[in-house]
Amino acid sequence: MGIVDEDVVRVRDATDLVAVVSQHLQLKRVGQRWVGLCPFHAEKSPSFSINAEQGLYYCFGCQAKGDAITFVREIEHLDFPGAVEWLANKAGITLRYTDTGENEGRKRRKRLVEAMSRAVDWYHERLLSSPDAKEARGYLRTRGFDGDKVREFKLGWAPDDWDALARFLKVPDDVLTDTGLGFVNRRNRQQDAFRGRVLFPIFDVQGEPVAFGGRILPGHEGPKYKNSSESPLYAKSKVLYGLNWMKAGIVEADEAIVCEGYTDVIGFADVGLRRAVATCGTALTEEHFRTLKRYTHRVVLAFDADAAGQAAAERFYEWEKAYEIDVAVADLPPGVDPADLARTDPERLVSAIAGATPFLGFRVGRALAAGAVDTPEGRARTAEAALAVIAEHPSDLVRDQYIMEVADRCRLDPDRLRAQLARGPAPRSEIPPSARPAPAGLPRDNAELDALRLAVLRPEAVGDLLDEVLFEDELHAAVFRALAPGGTMHEVLDRCDPRAAELLQRLVVEEAGADPENVASVLTAAAAGRALRRLDAANRRSFDVERSRQIAWLKLAIEQVDPDDADPEVRAQLLAWLSEQAEETG
Ligand SMILES: [Zn+2]
Repeated sequence: MGIVDEDVVRVRDATDLVAVVSQHLQLKRVGQRWVGLCPFHAEKSPSFSINAEQGLYYCFGCQAKGDAITFVREIEHLDFPGAVEWLANKAGITLRYTDTGENEGRKRRKRLVEAMSRAVDWYHERLLSSPDAKEARGYLRTRGFDGDKVREFKLGWAPDDWDALARFLKVPDDVLTDTGLGFVNRRNRQQDAFRGRVLFPIFDVQGEPVAFGGRILPGHEGPKYKNSSESPLYAKSKVLYGLNWMKAGIVEADEAIVCEGYTDVIGFADVGLRRAVATCGTALTEEHFRTLKRYTHRVVLAFDADAAGQAAAERFYEWEKAYEIDVAVADLPPGVDPADLARTDPERLVSAIAGATPFLGFRVGRALAAGAVDTPEGRARTAEAALAVIAEHPSDLVRDQYIMEVADRCRLDPDRLRAQLARGPAPRSEIPPSARPAPAGLPRDNAELDALRLAVLRPEAVGDLLDEVLFEDELHAAVFRALAPGGTMHEVLDRCDPRAAELLQRLVVEEAGADPENVASVLTAAAAGRALRRLDAANRRSFDVERSRQIAWLKLAIEQVDPDDADPEVRAQLLAWLSEQAEETG
């Protein structure tokens, strides 16, 4: 990596982990910690825990853990330097880079993004002022795009020319092709990918341009839309158009509207619903859901959800459950785009979102509406069609509520419908294994762990009460060893082996509630007891007077460090003796 180490530390120190995490989930103060619902796995009760002072988090559900940099890496899908840059930017820290060793992939991405940014600006300028963009400007005006909107969404115009952009950019062939901005033709000359099209630049969540969607002007040859192909910068299944602008509105409303077109996103923004994003020429994917989950618990589909079909429906139910997102369907008039409605009847568009129905309710409603219910046969057929839809849903409780609705509409006995549903094909199974929270894995809560918690969270309270020799468990001893030299938790973690680091990262977000004196007495008595048994055994093999004296002293001392009423002086003597012994035996 290319960022100077010192600067990484500065960024870490300047960052308030609680503030960073709060942008993605609600945190609540509990004792010394902050807790919330884990953003990395689906859960109903909070297992995500933060130690604000040390800037570390740990999830008891999925064992996700780390510091602010790790968190930003995971949640923003960035690499290490990218996450440091992201945080540095927030903290107003200017980073210094080492000349050598900068990650090649990173450098490469930077060059591609730079070329994309120049292309966005160049296309945008062309649309605003070039004479050959007159028709495009006229078309956009008829669609309700004034200058402000064109500027806000950085719309552009790709002139009807073979290589106008390539001649401006003057980038190497591989940059031109890897950005999807152009290609090298058979005569070995650079050629533009887009010509004669209005361009909608597509940005990633960070606001970096990664692709374009290009719309042809009415009356011209060619497919209506042409999008950038997949590239090192651009994966269709992950990117949502508009998220860079709308994420704040999505968090605020706790709702994301998902539509299909770039102009739909802009149309929603136009009527004050600044929370719409669009898939870029693909169906909604699990990646999209995972991304949206970071910002909201509710997704409203503003496209023809019926056309998405049964396979899509089953996936939606799985994702609803796995990501705890409610999926609803906007109440749009059939055959009308949100973009059109935004211009012709903005109030209707707003009410379409306000009146969205749960996804299953929408599908059942469609099935009921499609059937004839004026004859007994018709009612039975309609009920069967509706039951088939209901059967897709994984939850018993949800299914049952819709059965009541179908029974009512088709004038049938709900129990008969239930029986019928039970006989039918079983609904698809619930959550993909990967999305299931891992078992909590809490270890037995013993005195050694209590002692480590104190050593981690209240080191001043345990002072010289503890020593490595008190830990019988090798892993616990390793953690204590790593803590002993002091320093920040990051320095401590750096000198840990992975298993010790894992345990430490969990302890750091727990509570240190035990009484230090009590814990020290329990551990000292236990360690002394182990030493006593060793000496006894040795003495049985070959008797030694000096050893016998030690045994007698130990027996007496152990009685005096009874946890309920320990003599601090004797405990200190015992501890000193135990560590001496340990040094002697190596
Ligand atoms: Zn988790």
